[in-house]
Amino acid sequence: MAGKISMSEKLGLYIHIPFCERKCRYCGFLSFPGFGEELYERYTAALCKEISGYNEKFSSIYTPDTIFIGGGTPSLLDGEKIKRIMDCIRDSFFSGQGAADDGKSADDIEVTIESNPNSLTYEKLAAYRQAGINRLSMGAQSMNDRILDSLGRVHQSSDVGRAFEQARKAGFENINIDLMFGVPEQTLKDVLESVSSIIEMKPEHISLYGLQLEEDTIFYEEYKSGILDVPDEKEESRMYHAAADLLRQGGYDHYEISNWALSGYECRHNLKYWSMKDYLGAGPGAHSYIKGSRSKNVDRLDDYLDLIESGRSATDQRSYVFDSKEDAMGIFVFTALRTRQGVDTRAFEERFGESFFRVYKDRAELIKKYIDEGLMFLSGSRLALTEQGIDVSNDIMSEFV
Ligand code: SF4
Repeated sequence: MAGKISMSEKLGLYIHIPFCERKCRYCGFLSFPGFGEELYERYTAALCKEISGYNEKFSSIYTPDTIFIGGGTPSLLDGEKIKRIMDCIRDSFFSGQGAADDGKSADDIEVTIESNPNSLTYEKLAAYRQAGINRLSMGAQSMNDRILDSLGRVHQSSDVGRAFEQARKAGFENINIDLMFGVPEQTLKDVLESVSSIIEMKPEHISLYGLQLEEDTIFYEEYKSGILDVPDEKEESRMYHAAADLLRQGGYDHYEISNWALSGYECRHNLKYWSMKDYLGAGPGAHSYIKGSRSKNVDRLDDYLDLIESGRSATDQRSYVFDSKEDAMGIFVFTALRTRQGVDTRAFEERFGESFFRVYKDRAELIKKYIDEGLMFLSGSRLALTEQGIDVSNDIMSEFV
């Protein structure tokens, strides 16, 4: 990306591309299937208009140091549209900046695009690189075609290797691959075979998510009707820990509950969410968190397009929430516990002006119990979950909110 990072505050910028070829059977994300070039064109123009509107409000305060183009399936957009979006970000946040005053070059900006392997070609990948994208995230989910079919994915396992090779050829040196476990018909062997195949490809980052049964999905309806057979909790836990062992042996550091990376390749954008840093979202349903205030854009695509095209804000005015100090402290602890670093009690005190141990003194016994049971550990100023604690992470984390 042209331009340099200035001394202004850092910002995570999230751009939502809500289109998919078809809806996967488990998908609860905000994404719409079955649209084509005409709407992609209209949507790109609307996104650029929304991002340009941020110029006046935010560019004097913030400079993005991470950009995440997520979805949906952003790789349905061709290189030209992604370039227009990137140009728009550049014009809104980076134009007119001279030499970096903190010595950082623009290459320090992490710019991710999410993709579906079957929608990637060498030409498209090269155009993305050219547009300034330097991190590719690919939704493989499994390397078993039977599982991919049952998930309702549009790609096959062979697409993953092909797209990965082309991405390397196009110059991507930072690639994430998403995998899933705990899905119908999947065995422990299936999970480990998929993880092994991906480790052999040597991506810099691997995410492994457990299936969530979200309302308004085909899987949820099937589960309610009793016809969806998913692995039970014990089997899920076996899958997760066996996969985690393989990833550790493969040299990947388990830095967040669902994320592993080679050293230095942790996803900086997602780390912002887990450490409550400011971020701004564009596109329908996109969330923002700016100086303690949370808000969200309208969900409906029609509403989003109408609002932006008629020069209005896409923020759902009812969505504004300003975290109370107590809520902010709870969210800080909750999200930090997702990471290997855990809660930095010193950072907590710096941020909130109060000692972590004083604020949570009524939970001191509980914390001690978790430590005694090997579910948490305290190291210096860090309080974190152990690998065993991850199994009951929801119970532990919810003690703080
Ligand atoms: S590709 Fe991703 S966003 Fe699109 S339907 Fe499938 S899971 Fe949902």
